[in-house]
Amino acid sequence: ATKPLGIDPSRLVLQKTQTPKPLQKPEDLVFGATFTDHMLTVEWNKTSGWLEPHITPYQNLSLDPATCVFHYAFECFEGMKAYKDSKGQIRLFRPDKNMARFNKSAARIALPNFESEALINLVAQFAKLESRFIPDQKGYSLYLRPTMIGTQKTLGVGPPGSALLYVIASPVGPYYPTGFKAVSLEATDYAVRAWPGGVGDSKLGANYAPCIVPQREAMSRGFQQNLWLFGEEEYVTEVGTMNLFVAVRNKETGQKELLTAPLDGTILEGVTRDSVLALARERLVPEGWGVSERKFTMRELDEAAQEGRLIEAFGAGTAAIVSPVRAISWKGKLVNCGLKDHEEAGEIALRVKNWMEAIQYGDEEHEWSYVC
Ligand code: PMP
Repeated sequence: ATKPLGIDPSRLVLQKTQTPKPLQKPEDLVFGATFTDHMLTVEWNKTSGWLEPHITPYQNLSLDPATCVFHYAFECFEGMKAYKDSKGQIRLFRPDKNMARFNKSAARIALPNFESEALINLVAQFAKLESRFIPDQKGYSLYLRPTMIGTQKTLGVGPPGSALLYVIASPVGPYYPTGFKAVSLEATDYAVRAWPGGVGDSKLGANYAPCIVPQREAMSRGFQQNLWLFGEEEYVTEVGTMNLFVAVRNKETGQKELLTAPLDGTILEGVTRDSVLALARERLVPEGWGVSERKFTMRELDEAAQEGRLIEAFGAGTAAIVSPVRAISWKGKLVNCGLKDHEEAGEIALRVKNWMEAIQYGDEEHEWSYVC
């Protein structure tokens, strides 16, 4: 038998749309609501491996009602962005990180793996083809959604014998069009998002649906997002679709520290999280800061806030880059995260956002930026 094939960008079949969509006014863009002209698809089956990639007009999928994705949630995805630089070139940000995470998620649910380089090449061609959808102004980008589903038509519970990988793209505006707006969080103590040995560190669709009810509960009480805690100790883990960073002054040494939860399997391994850590180690440590990935509890945060040692807190994720946090509601009290009433962002959040954007938009040449 011949060996199943990998994804091969040289076999790409390109079918351009005959009916290009009209462009929306940039200020009217709503996150994830509209999509570009085309989509990228690659089919897989266990005898042939990956078939030839296609770029086709954006269209519906046609799937049998018995397809395994609808019954047993064989689905994983990624979220990444393409940016337009001042010369009009399209750039991806650390696509290797998204591809590694995509492969890890796929493997966890018995979906096939692929060579990262091959898919990056195809995603880059796709993003370039859709560049007219990315407004020139700073803050705009093309949100890319690589997705993989099991397509085998069977109600038998087992590894899918066929799969579809596809990528769609949605033009998006700045998360905070009028400048930062600090959010308030509600710490959820009645539900858990992830647990040791579970799948919270994989980007599976099945991890997201169960989070909506606690999120809606938090919103009904006036909080923008819920904060996930873990265990009796109430370790702080992450926010809905963001990792959480806090800046505190160490109780014993007085040193300023940037903290985030460790990769212990209960949080998503955010690309933004990893980037913030790397930049902080490079640029804040020389200023005397400590940077640590370690467990910390809600009690510790509350104590720091009461003693005036909680400097600031912010979420970090692809959508907003950084999202400053004003306060966390916990056991009926409000833990204030260090912002003054008139402030919408702390100094570290602002600096991190500027560092990240400079790299993403190609204003600062950096190995993380991938020119398509
Ligand atoms: N946590 C969760 C649960 C998420 O869905 C996301 C968004 N992918 C993040 C964290 C942030 O990850 P990233 O920086 O890769 O966008």
